Amino acid sequence: MKIAAASAFDKRKSADVLIVPFWEGAKSAFKENFSSVALEDLLDSGDFKGKLGEVAIFYAAKAKEPRCLLLGLGKKENVSSESLRKAFAAAIKWIREKKLKAVHLLFPDIEEEMAPSILESVLLSNYAFTSLKGESSDDKSPRLIETFLMFGISSQTASQIDHYQTIAESVSLVRDLVNGNADDVTPEMFAKEIPAMLGKKVKTVVFDRKDLEKEGMGLLLAVGQGARYEPCMIQASYRGNPQAKEHILLVGKGITYDTGGLCLKSADNMLTMKCDMAGAATMLAVVKVAAALGLKINVTALAPIAENAIGSKSFKQGDVYRSFSGKTVEILNTDAEGRLVLADAIAYGVKNLKPTLVIDAATLTGAIVVALGEEMSGLFSNDESAAKDLERASQRTGESLWRMPLYDYKDSLRSDIADLANMGGREAGSIKAALFLQEFTGGVPWAHIDMAGPAFLSKPKGYFPTKGTGWGVRLLVDFLEQRAK
Ligand SMILES: [Zn+2]
Repeated sequence: MKIAAASAFDKRKSADVLIVPFWEGAKSAFKENFSSVALEDLLDSGDFKGKLGEVAIFYAAKAKEPRCLLLGLGKKENVSSESLRKAFAAAIKWIREKKLKAVHLLFPDIEEEMAPSILESVLLSNYAFTSLKGESSDDKSPRLIETFLMFGISSQTASQIDHYQTIAESVSLVRDLVNGNADDVTPEMFAKEIPAMLGKKVKTVVFDRKDLEKEGMGLLLAVGQGARYEPCMIQASYRGNPQAKEHILLVGKGITYDTGGLCLKSADNMLTMKCDMAGAATMLAVVKVAAALGLKINVTALAPIAENAIGSKSFKQGDVYRSFSGKTVEILNTDAEGRLVLADAIAYGVKNLKPTLVIDAATLTGAIVVALGEEMSGLFSNDESAAKDLERASQRTGESLWRMPLYDYKDSLRSDIADLANMGGREAGSIKAALFLQEFTGGVPWAHIDMAGPAFLSKPKGYFPTKGTGWGVRLLVDFLEQRAK
């Protein structure tokens, strides 16, 4: 999509639709001089109230745009970046359903600080995953907006278009990877194709199975041993501030498909399990964005990638495996595999990369979805400053986090025959998973994001599409931007 600022509203060319924003109470929210009889009639009818996300249409065959879309922004006193994102997502949804390609917008008269949220919403809402549709399908060519021109936008906001486009492209990359077939988005595919996708400024190292054996990453190897694709780990580094000591390590869970292993999932629970690499895709995408934006920060992503398959070679319940850290782990449930691959990657990163902060993101537990639902992720942290900064980034980006306790349930992870068990019973499952990970952080400041809810949606929600959402990219990029300042 070409998204751009435009001037001279009076001299504009034609387009399919003009978006005209209103505050609740149908008070106009735009600066440009625009009026029409049809608009007055519609407003006089009282049918359009301007409520948040409300859409009303009138047609004007002879106008430069044959359709005029009135968009409600809600009450002016309640406006926020997130309310603007929600409102514009509703407009884009309507426009895409009608297969319209060229859009004009009378940019609303709002505080400079909130204006970029409109760019974000338009960019994030204009996404479709169609590569698996058949050639003859009506939807093969996606219903996407091709040009989006904004009238009355400030030069300051206009100067940030490229910035938000860069971020949105990486969000789309994560969505594509999550939505792709698990037999296409394999550990091999990650190893072969991801390095080139991250751009020249990102230095990547790929650890293949032999490298993992040499390093002693017994947990990652165990999880991947049942699959026909060999596990791997991708290290992607960007050094934007070589003088600084600060180095942030991002670790993402990369299970390309999770059957549950020998502790096989039910059909319903397995249905969405190609999303189980969303954490890895997110962390790699965040490093890509940090490099593309030239952020003054040092950041490395580690993505342990494996498929948790069922078969004669699968790792076994009741067996004990040795982790990179040296700690041994008894497998009480082969479906609690995400924490195993993360544990090895975190321990490897802490030892070899000397990070000042570790953040991991993972579609880790069903328990967090029971607790917080599909729209929020759980945040666990032993570091107040990182937790506060992540919460602030969450408020700015609208990617919701809720702080969860690292309550001392460690006894439940005790094993009679190994140093740790990989499960601690059903209750407080997401807390116990976090406590398991904490055992491998070596005391380094750390935050864990359990994103099993919002990484993959059963139905679209605002500017998030159904299935892969790319949730977390904007949150973590915002966090890095704040740290880089
Ligand atoms: Zn699992």
